[in-house]
Amino acid sequence: MEKLLQYETVIIGGGASGIMAAITAARTGRKVVLLEKKEKLGKKILLTGNGRCNISNKFAKEDKRQVKHYFGNNPKFVMSVFNKFGYEETKEFFENLGVKFVEEDNGRMFPAGNQAQSVVDVLEYELRELNIKLINGAGVKEIKKIGNNKFAVKISDGRVFGTSKLIIATGGKTHEQTGSTGDGYEFARQFGHKIIETFPVYSGLNITKESDSKNFPLLHILQGTKLEAAITARIGSEVIAENTGTVMFAHYGLSAPGILEISREIAREFFLNEKKAEISLNFFPGKNAREVEEMIQRIWTNSPNRTLGFSLIGVLPKKVFPAILETAGMDPSKKVAEINKELRSKIAELLTGLTFQVDSVRGFEEAHFTAGGVDTKEVNPATLESKLQPGLFFCGEVLDIDGECGGYNLQWAWSSGFVAGSIN
Ligand SMILES: Cc1cc2nc3c(=O)[nH]c(=O)nc-3n(C[C@H](O)[C@H](O)[C@H](O)COP(=O)(O)OP(=O)(O)OC[C@H]3O[C@@H](n4cnc5c(N)ncnc54)[C@H](O)[C@@H]3O)c2cc1C
Repeated sequence: MEKLLQYETVIIGGGASGIMAAITAARTGRKVVLLEKKEKLGKKILLTGNGRCNISNKFAKEDKRQVKHYFGNNPKFVMSVFNKFGYEETKEFFENLGVKFVEEDNGRMFPAGNQAQSVVDVLEYELRELNIKLINGAGVKEIKKIGNNKFAVKISDGRVFGTSKLIIATGGKTHEQTGSTGDGYEFARQFGHKIIETFPVYSGLNITKESDSKNFPLLHILQGTKLEAAITARIGSEVIAENTGTVMFAHYGLSAPGILEISREIAREFFLNEKKAEISLNFFPGKNAREVEEMIQRIWTNSPNRTLGFSLIGVLPKKVFPAILETAGMDPSKKVAEINKELRSKIAELLTGLTFQVDSVRGFEEAHFTAGGVDTKEVNPATLESKLQPGLFFCGEVLDIDGECGGYNLQWAWSSGFVAGSIN
Protein backbone atom coordinates (compact mmCIF):
# COMPACT_ATOMS: atom_id res chain seq x y z
CA MET A 1 0.00 0.00 0.00
CA GLU A 2 1.40 3.43 -1.02
CA LYS A 3 2.08 6.03 1.66
CA LEU A 4 -0.91 8.38 1.97
CA LEU A 5 -0.27 12.11 2.31
CA GLN A 6 -3.19 13.15 4.50
CA TYR A 7 -5.18 16.34 3.92
CA GLU A 8 -8.57 17.41 5.26
CA THR A 9 -9.58 18.67 1.81
CA VAL A 10 -8.20 17.58 -1.55
CA ILE A 11 -9.19 19.64 -4.59
CA ILE A 12 -8.66 18.45 -8.14
CA GLY A 13 -8.33 21.37 -10.56
CA GLY A 14 -6.74 24.79 -10.10
CA GLY A 15 -9.18 26.81 -12.20
CA ALA A 16 -11.56 29.49 -10.93
CA SER A 17 -13.82 27.13 -8.98
CA GLY A 18 -11.02 24.98 -7.51
CA ILE A 19 -9.02 28.01 -6.37
CA MET A 20 -12.12 29.49 -4.70
CA ALA A 21 -12.87 26.16 -3.01
CA ALA A 22 -9.28 25.94 -1.72
CA ILE A 23 -9.29 29.48 -0.29
CA THR A 24 -12.68 28.93 1.34
CA ALA A 25 -11.67 25.61 2.89
CA ALA A 26 -8.35 26.97 4.18
CA ARG A 27 -10.03 30.03 5.68
CA THR A 28 -12.11 27.69 7.83
CA GLY A 29 -8.89 26.19 9.17
CA ARG A 30 -8.69 23.09 7.01
CA LYS A 31 -5.48 21.53 5.77
CA VAL A 32 -5.83 21.77 1.99
CA VAL A 33 -4.01 20.52 -1.08
CA LEU A 34 -4.82 21.88 -4.55
CA LEU A 35 -3.81 19.55 -7.38
CA GLU A 36 -3.45 21.19 -10.78
CA LYS A 37 -2.53 19.25 -13.90
CA LYS A 38 -0.90 22.16 -15.76
CA GLU A 39 2.34 23.91 -14.90
CA LYS A 40 0.39 27.06 -14.03
CA LEU A 41 -2.89 27.83 -12.27
CA GLY A 42 -5.95 29.41 -13.83
CA LYS A 43 -4.98 29.10 -17.48
CA LYS A 44 -8.60 29.44 -18.57
CA ILE A 45 -9.14 32.56 -16.46
CA LEU A 46 -6.43 34.18 -18.60
CA LEU A 47 -8.56 33.66 -21.73
CA THR A 48 -11.67 35.31 -20.37
CA GLY A 49 -12.78 38.74 -21.52
CA ASN A 50 -10.06 38.65 -24.21
CA GLY A 51 -7.37 38.58 -21.54
CA ARG A 52 -9.06 41.25 -19.41
CA CYS A 53 -11.05 38.77 -17.27
CA ASN A 54 -14.79 39.30 -17.40
CA ILE A 55 -14.83 38.40 -13.73
CA SER A 56 -18.59 38.50 -13.06
CA ASN A 57 -21.90 39.98 -14.06
CA LYS A 58 -23.97 42.01 -11.66
CA PHE A 59 -27.17 40.49 -13.08
CA ALA A 60 -26.13 36.99 -11.99
CA LYS A 61 -28.78 37.22 -9.25
CA GLU A 62 -31.44 34.80 -10.27
CA ASP A 63 -35.10 34.99 -9.49
CA LYS A 64 -36.58 31.67 -8.39
CA ARG A 65 -39.62 32.13 -10.70
CA GLN A 66 -37.38 32.15 -13.75
CA VAL A 67 -33.66 31.56 -14.05
CA LYS A 68 -32.65 33.80 -16.94
CA HIS A 69 -28.93 33.51 -17.42
CA TYR A 70 -28.15 29.85 -16.77
CA PHE A 71 -28.86 26.61 -18.62
CA GLY A 72 -28.71 22.88 -17.99
CA ASN A 73 -31.35 20.25 -17.26
CA ASN A 74 -32.17 22.03 -14.01
CA PRO A 75 -31.03 25.67 -14.12
CA LYS A 76 -32.77 26.43 -10.79
CA PHE A 77 -29.94 24.45 -9.18
CA VAL A 78 -27.91 27.70 -9.19
CA MET A 79 -30.36 29.44 -6.82
CA SER A 80 -29.29 28.05 -3.46
CA VAL A 81 -25.62 28.39 -4.42
CA PHE A 82 -26.09 32.07 -5.28
CA ASN A 83 -28.11 32.59 -2.10
CA LYS A 84 -25.07 31.50 -0.11
CA PHE A 85 -22.45 33.30 -2.15
CA GLY A 86 -23.66 35.49 -4.98
CA TYR A 87 -22.48 38.49 -6.94
CA GLU A 88 -22.24 40.85 -3.92
CA GLU A 89 -20.20 38.38 -1.87
CA THR A 90 -17.90 37.76 -4.84
CA LYS A 91 -17.34 41.48 -5.29
CA GLU A 92 -16.51 41.83 -1.61
CA PHE A 93 -14.22 38.80 -1.73
CA PHE A 94 -12.19 40.31 -4.56
CA GLU A 95 -12.20 43.81 -3.11
CA ASN A 96 -10.72 42.38 0.07
CA LEU A 97 -7.95 40.92 -2.06
CA GLY A 98 -7.39 44.34 -3.64
CA VAL A 99 -9.25 43.77 -6.93
CA LYS A 100 -11.78 46.51 -7.64
CA PHE A 101 -14.70 45.72 -9.98
CA VAL A 102 -15.47 48.11 -12.86
CA GLU A 103 -18.78 47.83 -14.70
CA GLU A 104 -19.11 47.80 -18.48
CA ASP A 105 -22.16 47.24 -20.71
CA ASN A 106 -24.90 44.77 -19.75
CA GLY A 107 -23.64 44.40 -16.19
CA ARG A 108 -20.32 42.86 -17.22
CA MET A 109 -17.68 43.37 -14.53
CA PHE A 110 -13.93 43.63 -15.09
CA PRO A 111 -11.03 44.12 -12.70
CA ALA A 112 -9.98 47.79 -12.62
CA GLY A 113 -6.50 46.81 -13.80
CA ASN A 114 -8.01 45.15 -16.89
CA GLN A 115 -5.64 42.19 -16.68
CA ALA A 116 -6.70 38.59 -16.17
CA GLN A 117 -3.15 37.77 -15.07
CA SER A 118 -3.45 40.10 -12.10
CA VAL A 119 -6.59 38.25 -10.95
CA VAL A 120 -4.72 34.94 -11.10
CA ASP A 121 -1.70 36.49 -9.33
CA VAL A 122 -3.85 37.81 -6.48
CA LEU A 123 -5.57 34.45 -6.02
CA GLU A 124 -2.26 32.61 -6.06
CA TYR A 125 -0.88 35.03 -3.48
CA GLU A 126 -3.85 34.28 -1.22
CA LEU A 127 -3.37 30.51 -1.64
CA ARG A 128 0.21 30.90 -0.43
CA GLU A 129 -0.77 33.25 2.43
CA LEU A 130 -3.16 30.55 3.64
CA ASN A 131 -0.45 27.88 3.45
CA ILE A 132 -2.41 25.83 0.98
CA LYS A 133 -0.29 23.10 -0.52
CA LEU A 134 -0.34 23.90 -4.22
CA ILE A 135 1.03 21.31 -6.62
CA ASN A 136 1.33 22.15 -10.31
CA GLY A 137 1.93 19.47 -12.90
CA ALA A 138 -0.16 17.18 -10.69
CA GLY A 139 -2.58 15.48 -13.06
CA VAL A 140 -4.82 13.17 -11.07
CA LYS A 141 -4.70 9.72 -12.62
CA GLU A 142 -6.74 7.63 -10.25
CA ILE A 143 -9.16 7.96 -7.36
CA LYS A 144 -9.75 5.00 -5.05
CA LYS A 145 -12.24 4.65 -2.27
CA ILE A 146 -10.78 3.57 1.06
CA GLY A 147 -13.48 2.27 3.36
CA ASN A 148 -16.84 3.99 3.01
CA ASN A 149 -16.08 7.68 3.02
CA LYS A 150 -12.35 8.14 2.38
CA PHE A 151 -10.49 8.64 -0.85
CA ALA A 152 -6.97 7.99 -2.11
CA VAL A 153 -6.04 10.35 -4.96
CA LYS A 154 -3.03 9.44 -7.08
CA ILE A 155 -1.19 12.04 -9.21
CA SER A 156 1.08 11.62 -12.21
CA ASP A 157 4.36 11.45 -10.21
CA GLY A 158 2.98 8.58 -8.10
CA ARG A 159 2.22 10.50 -4.91
CA VAL A 160 -1.08 9.56 -3.24
CA PHE A 161 -3.22 11.91 -1.17
CA GLY A 162 -5.69 10.67 1.43
CA THR A 163 -8.79 12.66 2.40
CA SER A 164 -12.35 12.47 3.63
CA LYS A 165 -13.37 15.50 1.53
CA LEU A 166 -12.63 15.40 -2.18
CA ILE A 167 -13.68 18.28 -4.45
CA ILE A 168 -13.78 17.77 -8.20
CA ALA A 169 -13.22 21.11 -9.93
CA THR A 170 -11.85 19.90 -13.25
CA GLY A 171 -13.95 22.18 -15.50
CA GLY A 172 -15.48 21.26 -18.83
CA LYS A 173 -13.61 20.36 -21.99
CA THR A 174 -13.17 23.52 -24.07
CA HIS A 175 -9.69 24.77 -25.05
CA GLU A 176 -7.97 21.65 -23.83
CA GLN A 177 -4.57 23.38 -23.79
CA THR A 178 -5.83 25.02 -20.56
CA GLY A 179 -6.00 21.58 -18.93
CA SER A 180 -9.77 21.12 -19.11
CA THR A 181 -10.04 17.79 -20.86
CA GLY A 182 -13.16 16.36 -19.28
CA ASP A 183 -11.36 14.17 -16.70
CA GLY A 184 -13.94 15.08 -14.07
CA TYR A 185 -16.69 13.29 -15.98
CA GLU A 186 -14.80 10.00 -15.72
CA PHE A 187 -14.12 10.53 -12.01
CA ALA A 188 -17.83 11.24 -11.46
CA ARG A 189 -18.91 8.18 -13.48
CA GLN A 190 -16.67 6.04 -11.30
CA PHE A 191 -18.89 6.94 -8.32
CA GLY A 192 -22.07 6.14 -10.25
CA HIS A 193 -22.87 9.68 -11.39
CA LYS A 194 -24.78 10.26 -14.58
CA ILE A 195 -23.19 12.67 -17.06
CA ILE A 196 -25.65 14.75 -19.07
CA GLU A 197 -24.39 14.66 -22.64
CA THR A 198 -21.92 17.48 -23.28
CA PHE A 199 -21.70 19.84 -26.24
CA PRO A 200 -19.67 22.97 -27.00
CA VAL A 201 -21.29 26.37 -26.49
CA TYR A 202 -20.36 29.78 -27.86
CA SER A 203 -18.60 28.87 -31.06
CA GLY A 204 -18.91 29.78 -34.73
CA LEU A 205 -20.84 28.00 -37.49
CA ASN A 206 -19.27 26.13 -40.37
CA ILE A 207 -20.79 26.63 -43.81
CA THR A 208 -19.40 24.59 -46.67
CA LYS A 209 -19.80 24.54 -50.43
CA GLU A 210 -21.67 21.27 -49.98
CA SER A 211 -24.06 22.61 -47.33
CA ASP A 212 -24.76 25.87 -49.16
CA SER A 213 -23.54 26.13 -52.72
CA LYS A 214 -25.71 29.23 -53.30
CA ASN A 215 -24.28 31.67 -50.73
CA PHE A 216 -20.99 29.95 -49.85
CA PRO A 217 -18.98 32.22 -52.23
CA LEU A 218 -20.05 35.24 -50.15
CA LEU A 219 -17.95 34.00 -47.24
CA HIS A 220 -14.78 34.38 -49.27
CA ILE A 221 -15.65 37.72 -50.80
CA LEU A 222 -16.73 39.20 -47.48
CA GLN A 223 -14.23 37.42 -45.23
CA GLY A 224 -13.51 39.61 -42.18
CA THR A 225 -16.48 41.95 -42.79
CA LYS A 226 -18.64 42.64 -39.73
CA LEU A 227 -22.09 44.15 -39.67
CA GLU A 228 -25.23 44.33 -37.57
CA ALA A 229 -28.07 41.99 -38.43
CA ALA A 230 -31.22 40.45 -37.05
CA ILE A 231 -30.41 36.73 -37.02
CA THR A 232 -32.95 33.91 -37.14
CA ALA A 233 -31.99 30.24 -36.78
CA ARG A 234 -34.48 27.67 -38.04
CA ILE A 235 -34.70 23.91 -38.18
CA GLY A 236 -37.18 23.27 -40.97
CA SER A 237 -39.91 25.84 -40.40
CA GLU A 238 -39.36 26.08 -36.63
CA VAL A 239 -37.53 29.12 -35.29
CA ILE A 240 -35.08 27.82 -32.67
CA ALA A 241 -33.25 31.06 -31.84
CA GLU A 242 -33.28 34.75 -32.67
CA ASN A 243 -30.91 37.59 -31.92
CA THR A 244 -29.80 40.98 -33.12
CA GLY A 245 -26.09 41.66 -33.04
CA THR A 246 -22.81 41.69 -34.90
CA VAL A 247 -22.21 39.03 -37.53
CA MET A 248 -18.83 38.39 -39.08
CA PHE A 249 -18.19 36.53 -42.33
CA ALA A 250 -15.28 34.16 -41.75
CA HIS A 251 -13.47 31.83 -44.14
CA TYR A 252 -15.24 28.89 -42.48
CA GLY A 253 -18.69 30.43 -42.02
CA LEU A 254 -20.29 32.85 -39.59
CA SER A 255 -19.07 34.16 -36.27
CA ALA A 256 -19.00 37.23 -33.92
CA PRO A 257 -21.17 37.84 -30.84
CA GLY A 258 -24.54 38.01 -32.64
CA ILE A 259 -24.02 34.42 -33.86
CA LEU A 260 -22.17 33.11 -30.81
CA GLU A 261 -24.94 34.26 -28.49
CA ILE A 262 -27.46 31.97 -30.22
CA SER A 263 -25.02 29.18 -30.96
CA ARG A 264 -26.17 27.19 -27.89
CA GLU A 265 -29.51 26.27 -29.44
CA ILE A 266 -27.91 25.52 -32.82
CA ALA A 267 -25.19 23.39 -31.19
CA ARG A 268 -27.71 21.49 -29.07
CA GLU A 269 -29.72 20.53 -32.14
CA PHE A 270 -26.58 19.67 -34.08
CA PHE A 271 -24.73 17.61 -31.48
CA LEU A 272 -27.62 16.02 -29.61
CA ASN A 273 -30.25 15.64 -32.34
CA GLU A 274 -28.10 15.64 -35.49
CA LYS A 275 -30.16 18.49 -36.97
CA LYS A 276 -28.67 21.29 -39.01
CA ALA A 277 -29.96 24.83 -38.82
CA GLU A 278 -30.57 27.45 -41.47
CA ILE A 279 -29.46 30.99 -40.61
CA SER A 280 -31.29 33.95 -42.03
CA LEU A 281 -29.80 37.46 -41.83
CA ASN A 282 -31.76 40.69 -42.00
CA PHE A 283 -29.36 43.58 -42.49
CA PHE A 284 -32.04 46.07 -41.51
CA PRO A 285 -33.12 44.88 -38.03
CA GLY A 286 -36.68 45.87 -37.20
CA LYS A 287 -37.68 46.36 -40.85
CA ASN A 288 -39.47 43.85 -43.07
CA ALA A 289 -38.92 43.33 -46.80
CA ARG A 290 -41.68 45.78 -47.77
CA GLU A 291 -40.26 48.53 -45.56
CA VAL A 292 -36.77 47.95 -46.90
CA GLU A 293 -38.09 48.06 -50.44
CA GLU A 294 -39.69 51.44 -49.72
CA MET A 295 -36.42 52.69 -48.24
CA ILE A 296 -34.46 51.52 -51.28
CA GLN A 297 -36.95 53.15 -53.58
CA ARG A 298 -36.57 56.50 -51.80
CA ILE A 299 -32.76 56.31 -52.06
CA TRP A 300 -32.91 55.33 -55.72
CA THR A 301 -35.43 58.05 -56.64
CA ASN A 302 -32.98 60.63 -55.29
CA SER A 303 -30.02 59.22 -57.24
CA PRO A 304 -31.35 57.49 -60.38
CA ASN A 305 -28.01 57.54 -62.17
CA ARG A 306 -26.09 55.61 -59.57
CA THR A 307 -25.09 52.06 -60.32
CA LEU A 308 -26.90 49.37 -58.37
CA GLY A 309 -23.71 48.20 -56.63
CA PHE A 310 -22.93 51.73 -55.41
CA SER A 311 -26.48 52.70 -54.57
CA LEU A 312 -26.58 51.55 -50.91
CA ILE A 313 -23.09 52.80 -50.03
CA GLY A 314 -24.47 54.94 -47.21
CA VAL A 315 -26.43 52.19 -45.48
CA LEU A 316 -24.31 49.02 -45.76
CA PRO A 317 -20.54 48.37 -45.57
CA LYS A 318 -19.09 49.04 -49.04
CA LYS A 319 -18.37 45.46 -50.13
CA VAL A 320 -21.57 43.88 -48.87
CA PHE A 321 -24.26 44.94 -51.35
CA PRO A 322 -22.25 44.35 -54.56
CA ALA A 323 -21.21 40.93 -53.22
CA ILE A 324 -24.79 39.94 -52.47
CA LEU A 325 -25.91 41.11 -55.92
CA GLU A 326 -23.19 39.21 -57.75
CA THR A 327 -23.77 36.04 -55.75
CA ALA A 328 -27.47 36.25 -56.62
CA GLY A 329 -26.57 36.64 -60.31
CA MET A 330 -27.52 40.33 -60.59
CA ASP A 331 -25.43 42.93 -62.41
CA PRO A 332 -24.13 45.60 -59.97
CA SER A 333 -23.15 47.93 -62.84
CA LYS A 334 -26.77 48.50 -63.93
CA LYS A 335 -28.22 51.96 -63.32
CA VAL A 336 -30.84 51.97 -60.54
CA ALA A 337 -33.30 53.77 -62.86
CA GLU A 338 -33.37 50.56 -64.93
CA ILE A 339 -34.39 48.30 -62.02
CA ASN A 340 -38.01 47.20 -62.20
CA LYS A 341 -40.36 46.51 -59.31
CA GLU A 342 -39.87 42.74 -59.44
CA LEU A 343 -36.11 43.02 -59.14
CA ARG A 344 -36.39 45.65 -56.42
CA SER A 345 -38.63 43.33 -54.37
CA LYS A 346 -36.18 40.48 -54.87
CA ILE A 347 -33.32 42.67 -53.63
CA ALA A 348 -35.33 43.70 -50.55
CA GLU A 349 -36.04 40.00 -49.86
CA LEU A 350 -32.33 39.23 -50.05
CA LEU A 351 -31.36 42.07 -47.73
CA THR A 352 -33.89 41.04 -45.10
CA GLY A 353 -33.51 37.27 -45.41
CA LEU A 354 -30.14 36.18 -46.73
CA THR A 355 -29.95 32.51 -45.82
CA PHE A 356 -27.09 30.13 -45.06
CA GLN A 357 -27.36 26.38 -44.54
CA VAL A 358 -25.13 25.44 -41.61
CA ASP A 359 -22.96 22.39 -42.14
CA SER A 360 -21.71 22.01 -38.56
CA VAL A 361 -20.92 23.84 -35.35
CA ARG A 362 -17.31 24.47 -34.41
CA GLY A 363 -16.15 22.25 -31.58
CA PHE A 364 -14.72 22.25 -28.06
CA GLU A 365 -11.36 23.55 -29.23
CA GLU A 366 -12.93 26.93 -30.01
CA ALA A 367 -16.04 27.05 -27.85
CA HIS A 368 -16.04 29.03 -24.61
CA PHE A 369 -18.25 26.84 -22.43
CA THR A 370 -19.30 23.21 -22.05
CA ALA A 371 -23.00 22.45 -21.78
CA GLY A 372 -23.93 19.25 -19.97
CA GLY A 373 -21.86 17.55 -17.28
CA VAL A 374 -22.48 15.97 -13.88
CA ASP A 375 -26.25 15.59 -13.45
CA THR A 376 -27.32 18.12 -10.82
CA LYS A 377 -30.16 15.82 -9.71
CA GLU A 378 -27.52 13.68 -8.00
CA VAL A 379 -25.84 16.60 -6.20
CA ASN A 380 -27.12 18.40 -3.09
CA PRO A 381 -27.69 22.04 -4.15
CA ALA A 382 -27.11 23.35 -0.61
CA THR A 383 -23.62 21.86 -0.25
CA LEU A 384 -22.64 20.53 -3.70
CA GLU A 385 -21.94 17.16 -2.11
CA SER A 386 -22.71 14.05 -4.13
CA LYS A 387 -25.96 12.36 -3.12
CA LEU A 388 -24.37 9.05 -4.14
CA GLN A 389 -20.99 9.26 -2.41
CA PRO A 390 -20.58 11.10 0.92
CA GLY A 391 -17.44 13.26 1.02
CA LEU A 392 -17.36 13.82 -2.76
CA PHE A 393 -18.12 17.37 -3.98
CA PHE A 394 -18.36 19.09 -7.38
CA CYS A 395 -18.03 22.73 -8.40
CA GLY A 396 -17.73 24.85 -11.55
CA GLU A 397 -18.18 23.86 -15.14
CA VAL A 398 -17.92 20.10 -14.50
CA LEU A 399 -21.55 20.30 -13.34
CA ASP A 400 -24.45 20.43 -15.80
CA ILE A 401 -24.69 24.23 -15.59
CA ASP A 402 -23.55 26.76 -18.15
CA GLY A 403 -24.26 30.45 -18.25
CA GLU A 404 -24.72 33.15 -20.85
CA CYS A 405 -21.63 34.93 -22.04
CA GLY A 406 -20.75 38.06 -20.08
CA GLY A 407 -19.25 36.98 -16.75
CA TYR A 408 -21.97 34.48 -15.79
CA ASN A 409 -19.73 31.41 -16.09
CA LEU A 410 -16.97 32.78 -13.92
CA GLN A 411 -19.60 33.88 -11.38
CA TRP A 412 -20.86 30.29 -11.30
CA ALA A 413 -17.30 29.05 -10.77
CA TRP A 414 -16.65 31.49 -7.86
CA SER A 415 -20.03 30.81 -6.20
CA SER A 416 -19.99 27.04 -6.55
CA GLY A 417 -16.32 26.91 -5.51
CA PHE A 418 -17.20 28.78 -2.32
CA VAL A 419 -20.09 26.43 -1.49
CA ALA A 420 -18.10 23.26 -2.20
CA GLY A 421 -15.18 24.52 -0.10
CA SER A 422 -17.33 25.53 2.89
CA ILE A 423 -17.74 23.39 5.97
CA ASN A 424 -21.19 21.81 5.95
C1 LIG B 1 -11.96 31.54 -24.65
C2 LIG B 1 -12.81 31.57 -23.40
C3 LIG B 1 -13.35 32.79 -22.98
C4 LIG B 1 -14.16 32.82 -21.85
N1 LIG B 1 -14.65 34.02 -21.46
C5 LIG B 1 -15.42 34.09 -20.36
C6 LIG B 1 -15.91 35.34 -19.91
O1 LIG B 1 -15.60 36.37 -20.50
N2 LIG B 1 -16.69 35.35 -18.79
C7 LIG B 1 -17.01 34.20 -18.11
O2 LIG B 1 -17.73 34.26 -17.11
N3 LIG B 1 -16.53 33.00 -18.51
C8 LIG B 1 -15.74 32.93 -19.61
N4 LIG B 1 -15.26 31.72 -20.00
C9 LIG B 1 -15.65 30.51 -19.24
C10 LIG B 1 -14.91 30.40 -17.92
O3 LIG B 1 -13.54 30.63 -18.14
C11 LIG B 1 -15.11 29.00 -17.32
O4 LIG B 1 -16.49 28.73 -17.23
C12 LIG B 1 -14.51 28.88 -15.94
O5 LIG B 1 -13.14 29.23 -15.97
C13 LIG B 1 -14.66 27.47 -15.42
O6 LIG B 1 -13.97 27.32 -14.23
P1 LIG B 1 -13.72 25.88 -13.61
O7 LIG B 1 -12.92 26.08 -12.39
O8 LIG B 1 -14.99 25.15 -13.49
O9 LIG B 1 -12.90 25.11 -14.71
P2 LIG B 1 -11.50 25.44 -15.42
O10 LIG B 1 -11.21 26.88 -15.39
O11 LIG B 1 -11.58 24.77 -16.73
O12 LIG B 1 -10.43 24.74 -14.48
C14 LIG B 1 -10.31 23.34 -14.39
C15 LIG B 1 -8.89 23.01 -13.99
O13 LIG B 1 -8.82 21.63 -13.67
C16 LIG B 1 -7.59 21.14 -14.13
N5 LIG B 1 -7.70 19.69 -14.30
C17 LIG B 1 -8.47 19.02 -15.19
N6 LIG B 1 -8.32 17.71 -15.05
C18 LIG B 1 -7.40 17.52 -14.05
C19 LIG B 1 -6.80 16.37 -13.47
N7 LIG B 1 -7.07 15.13 -13.87
N8 LIG B 1 -5.91 16.59 -12.46
C20 LIG B 1 -5.60 17.83 -12.04
N9 LIG B 1 -6.12 18.93 -12.57
C21 LIG B 1 -7.02 18.79 -13.57
C22 LIG B 1 -7.34 21.89 -15.42
O14 LIG B 1 -5.98 21.90 -15.78
C23 LIG B 1 -7.89 23.27 -15.09
O15 LIG B 1 -6.89 24.13 -14.62
C24 LIG B 1 -14.43 31.64 -21.12
C25 LIG B 1 -13.88 30.43 -21.53
C26 LIG B 1 -13.07 30.40 -22.66
C27 LIG B 1 -12.48 29.08 -23.10
